[in-house]
Amino acid sequence: MTQSDLTNRRILLASRPDGAPSPENFRIETVPLPEPSEGEVLLRILYLSLDPYMRGRMSAAKSYAKPVEIGQVMEGGTVAEVIRSRHPGFSEGDIVLSHSGWQSYAVSDGSNLRKLDPSQAPITTALGVLGMPGFTAYSGLLTIGQPKPGETVVVAAASGAVGSVVGQIAKIKGARAVGIAGGSDKCAFVRDQLGFDAVVDHRAPDFAAQLAAACPKGVDVYFENVGGKVWDAVFPLLNNFARIPVCGLIAQYNHGADEFPGPDRLPVLMRTILSKSLLIRGFIQREFVDQRQDFYRDVSQWLASGSLRYREDVVDGLDSAPVAFAGLLEGRNFGKLIVRVATEQVTS
Ligand code: NDP
Repeated sequence: MTQSDLTNRRILLASRPDGAPSPENFRIETVPLPEPSEGEVLLRILYLSLDPYMRGRMSAAKSYAKPVEIGQVMEGGTVAEVIRSRHPGFSEGDIVLSHSGWQSYAVSDGSNLRKLDPSQAPITTALGVLGMPGFTAYSGLLTIGQPKPGETVVVAAASGAVGSVVGQIAKIKGARAVGIAGGSDKCAFVRDQLGFDAVVDHRAPDFAAQLAAACPKGVDVYFENVGGKVWDAVFPLLNNFARIPVCGLIAQYNHGADEFPGPDRLPVLMRTILSKSLLIRGFIQREFVDQRQDFYRDVSQWLASGSLRYREDVVDGLDSAPVAFAGLLEGRNFGKLIVRVATEQVTS
């Protein structure tokens, strides 16, 4: 097969979801392969990362990043192979981390590429434990959470890309890790494979009581990934001087701000922040960019020594992305969600 026989398959945002995203919000199209100009490379996408932040990009609501426009390729982190290079810094066969979005090929001027060494770690880890989600866990927990030996650290979505790393780093730092996960399989994995001290199923009818029992000395660090009823259960357990890195609110992503009427709980929240000297601090991982080298060094070491483990949930084929992404927002993934867009061997 020659390059001119190849086409680029890509997934565009077709409409903005009202509530949970569905396949109708996406459009799949096939277009001619892009041609690299001088100074550019042609990338064949091998793996696409699916992440909760993409729900925000599908919405026009004001946020920390610009939305994807209707008719644009959905954005996303990718691992790709350079199949044609007109750039002095890259050769054919190089494997790179890129941000090429939901498509099978892309052209890049090299500015957003990072070369990966497949002999150092499986290349998918650049999208997970050694990538953005792992870095989110590392920087948010250590900079804001600052767990100390003997303290109790609670994290939800504990079997997932971010939460699994948070709990294990808490353990490495000598703290007690309590995970929250959905369903018995995920809970067993978090306890038995990741080594958390306790885990609670947020779907259990007595979830709040089980969480209180799992945290007999209260909660010193709550790494917030979820919001909603999980936050409600953690809130009364917070100790004086507890730290709460607010990383994500996935329980809210499919809902508009006006869908949460209820009683006004702000006065209680503010009184508790004051009386318990709580530190509640939101963050977007890229603000900690200067910690990236420390992250690569520490996490690589912990992976090599076996003190950090990870799980990936790999689905096959670019066309699977819309359904897999909707499942991520409902807990149907089990581990870091990745789409295998193409096989790793070089196209001839
Ligand atoms: P995960 O791999 O953990 O997958 C998402 C998980 O969230 C699901 O598997 C499910 O786990 C849980 N979940 C989904 N809906 C709900 C719900 N309604 N109630 C409770 N749990 C739910 O995703 P990531 O690790 O990639 O992301 C985790 C969080 O971190 C997200 O909120 C994300 O937005 C945030 N994030 C923030 C970043 C930042 O810079 N601030 C960067 C990266 C991620 P279960 O079935 O166990 O409940």
